[in-house]
Amino acid sequence: MSNPTKPSRILLTGFSGTGKTAVAPLLAAHFGWDVADTDALVEARAGKRILDIFRDDGEAAFRDMEEEALREACSRERVVVSTGGGVVLRADNRRALTEAGFVVCLEARPETIFQRLTARADTEPLDRPLLAAADPLARIRELKGARQHLYALCDWAVHTDGLTPEETAAEVIRAYEERAAALIASPDRVDAMAAPEAAAPGRTLHAVPEGAACMVRSLSRDYPVFVGWGTLGELGPRLREQGLTGFAYVISDETVWHHLGDEVEATLRAAEIDYDVFTVPPGEESKTQANAADLYDWLVEHRAERGHAVVAVGGGVVTDLGGYVAATYARGLPLVHVPTSMLGMVDAAIGGKVAVNHPRAKNMIGVFYPPRFVLADVAALRTLPEREIKSGLAEAIKHAFILDPAYLDFLEANAAAILKLDREATTEAIRRSVSIKAAVVSDDEFETTGRRSFLNYGHTLAHAIESTTGYARFRHGEADGIGMTAAAAMSVRMGLLSPAAADRQRVALERFGLPTHAEGLDRAHIMAAIALDKKVQGKKVRWVLLEDFGRPVLRDDVPPEIVEAALDEVLR
Ligand code: NAD
Repeated sequence: MSNPTKPSRILLTGFSGTGKTAVAPLLAAHFGWDVADTDALVEARAGKRILDIFRDDGEAAFRDMEEEALREACSRERVVVSTGGGVVLRADNRRALTEAGFVVCLEARPETIFQRLTARADTEPLDRPLLAAADPLARIRELKGARQHLYALCDWAVHTDGLTPEETAAEVIRAYEERAAALIASPDRVDAMAAPEAAAPGRTLHAVPEGAACMVRSLSRDYPVFVGWGTLGELGPRLREQGLTGFAYVISDETVWHHLGDEVEATLRAAEIDYDVFTVPPGEESKTQANAADLYDWLVEHRAERGHAVVAVGGGVVTDLGGYVAATYARGLPLVHVPTSMLGMVDAAIGGKVAVNHPRAKNMIGVFYPPRFVLADVAALRTLPEREIKSGLAEAIKHAFILDPAYLDFLEANAAAILKLDREATTEAIRRSVSIKAAVVSDDEFETTGRRSFLNYGHTLAHAIESTTGYARFRHGEADGIGMTAAAAMSVRMGLLSPAAADRQRVALERFGLPTHAEGLDRAHIMAAIALDKKVQGKKVRWVLLEDFGRPVLRDDVPPEIVEAALDEVLR
């Protein structure tokens, strides 16, 4: 190009079906450049189709080849690079893309993608299995939702719904001519795209705010979930950003406050936000209506009003209790979740369910109430007991089993690093889990369509085990490990899941130190607890089973002998 400040490469990212393959040659023809397609480069180099590479060598091998192909493509000059839909998953790839030139993400709504993929033969090879899913549109939504925070890391996005490839190309050309030079000159751009949590504050990356893993959609408001390492100090500035400067009612538990109180107070003071702190004893026993009543008294004493915020700093107990109080006091105070346990980060703080326990039923008194934002500082996990880390990770692994096979590969490959709380691996795992949970709850906020109930994979048995043992012997995630193993066994016996997949699931759970069977449990009690579940759900137990990783199904027709046989496998 004649203008030296404009980059000599345009890099197209985006989900399958957004038009990259069709648009790249149009751009190349306009500029007189070449096209490099990373999928085509991989296939040419390997001498076989991508699906065959996947089958023969596994996804990790494919991703390595893809990374190499991307580097090669990015080393060329005057080129339009069309990338595979999963290229953005690796931070190194995002860095390579950003360093190479102008990164343009082609966007489309899941419905548009579904229509295009079914109408055309040039679907990206890797995403063809999408169409084989029981509900392809739902699958596209899930996968795209899980990756959305990464697609958002681009210089420019073009929404291609309703555009022809020519019109899309014209939009890209316009952005390139008018904006590329200025956009790529931004000093923190490369770090912001490769490792957004390390980006300088203040940088705005399209719809997802800087540092946020994703947005959660909710009927009353959308909210960001910030995930990063060492980011607790951002709490004060983020409250300011949201206009929540009136007063902060910090609710925490004694253990959490011992570890993190100083840091929380420091960030609030620095942001000049007045606050008071109410701590409860750690543990499930604190999730009571009595504690909620004490918290109401405290809020009344302070004359809490709508411009003030409740900030829940702790594990799931605190975010549930604090959230319930925020939701119900004066018909709702602004709520901020600062989850500090693994379970809190990947599960309890996302999705807007808040509750206290009834003496006879867990979580029975509750509402749906979305927070203003969620701030998860992964570094806070360093003081969390190892057992809590493993137990919380059961939920993360479940996300991978039910909704994201690529994430399962990641967890398996990084299990040791995550258990040691390696900064990059753990932050990435939590980001991915948060994005998966966010995608599910955004789609089914009030648990009406059934999609949210996929998250109950393993729960029926886990709850029965927990109640049989008085909630004392197992942490929830541990009971879940056993529950998921039984659900996989049922899936195999129902002819849905291959024995090899069930075995892989068991090995993955064990790699994270989670139990997959238990001895000495009262079988009759467990059957009675499952029967009670049956009553609650209206005669039939609805089991979440798997057809494959990433393909959950709800089944209420599992014969009792299959349930019994699965229990035999896990209760020895
Ligand atoms: P928890 O809140 O009791 O935390 C577990 C333990 O870890 C506690 O002793 C706590 O003091 C300690 N802890 C937390 N963060 C710490 C840190 N950074 N350093 C040191 N210690 C720390 O339990 P949990 O496992 O986080 O959450 C369980 C609760 O979450 C249950 O009540 C469950 O019903 C609820 N939950 C809610 C949802 C939802 O959608 N609302 C989802 C899942 C679970």
